[in-house]
Amino acid sequence: MTNTVSLESVQNIDELKNLLANKSKIVITTHQNPDGDAMGSVLALSLFLKKNGHDVRAIVPNEYPEFLQWLPGNNEVMSYHRGKKSADEIIAKADLIFQLDYNDCKRSSEMKEIIASSHARKIMIDHHPFPQMNVDFSISFTQVSSTSELIYEFIIALNGQKLLDKSIATCLYVGIMTDTGCFSYNSSHPRTFEIVAQLLKRKIEKDEIYRHVYESFSVQRMRLFGYCLNEKMQVFPEYHTAFISISLEEQKRYEFATGDSEGFVNLPLSIKDIWFSAFFMEKKDKIKISFRSRGKFPVNAFSEKYFSGGGHLNASGGESQLTLNETIDKFVALLPQLAKELEG
Ligand code: 5GP
Ligand code: MN
Repeated sequence: MTNTVSLESVQNIDELKNLLANKSKIVITTHQNPDGDAMGSVLALSLFLKKNGHDVRAIVPNEYPEFLQWLPGNNEVMSYHRGKKSADEIIAKADLIFQLDYNDCKRSSEMKEIIASSHARKIMIDHHPFPQMNVDFSISFTQVSSTSELIYEFIIALNGQKLLDKSIATCLYVGIMTDTGCFSYNSSHPRTFEIVAQLLKRKIEKDEIYRHVYESFSVQRMRLFGYCLNEKMQVFPEYHTAFISISLEEQKRYEFATGDSEGFVNLPLSIKDIWFSAFFMEKKDKIKISFRSRGKFPVNAFSEKYFSGGGHLNASGGESQLTLNETIDKFVALLPQLAKELEG
């Protein structure tokens, strides 16, 4: 198989391999508001390292959507937000901490301090551009579809193909599928499909996985979906831009549950000639924003410059301390000065 990335090129990879040759206490974590790639990579690596005889704990900053809560190994995941004390003890005693699918320690939210103060050796495995993490081992490749793809490469680099079973393959497939919008973007390299072929050989149930992730919504979530498209989407054809917002009151009205707005940011991009979209979500302490684009408009640079965020060229996020309406006004006011960049 033709690799897109060579883990052998990672600085001190042999030292990491040697460390993993000894049974260790390992913590695996990811960014706040974990998505499919975050949970897929955390659980795949946890299951794999457990099979290697390590003492492994998966600790994520906060809750993740119900449509990911069926994944193999899900029952053993700890939420830092719900159990700080025991999580702190586990993290303090860890020999190794894997930080997956994020490139900036700010994104570990409440876990940031305890991770920074831990004496464990730290390993980042991630696919976001411009990593800014203080780690001992950095496995960072931006050309891959997902962190889950990198976990596959990591398992192979550790000679783990025989241990890669159906459960691990299922987690990896969820990560790759969700981070590529079901193979509609970020998935043009043959290697991604070669890996998927290997996962299929482990007998993953591809169609059932799709149903679990994309066809398991609640009635309220479907109604919220309709409401957002019908009444909340604002379109600016002259700037090829559209956005959707949801207030706290609307979340209450539609009995909002974690993950219910997953994918909403992509909806406006299905409109002809719309190639920049935003999604504003009012939280108790801030406005969380997602940005997406098609083509060359760099939403990571935009988010970093105006909304304290970052991410990928076509998918980024950020936040605002203004009110929801003020945040939207700020966004709309920025459009005229972006007009040139937003031209075809
Ligand atoms: P989402 O819109 O799905 O929350 O995030 C899309 C991508 O944007 C993520 O993969 C992540 O790279 C990035 N991202 C989201 N929120 C933030 C943020 O607050 N800060 C930074 N640096 N990146 C973010
Ligand atoms: Mn990812």
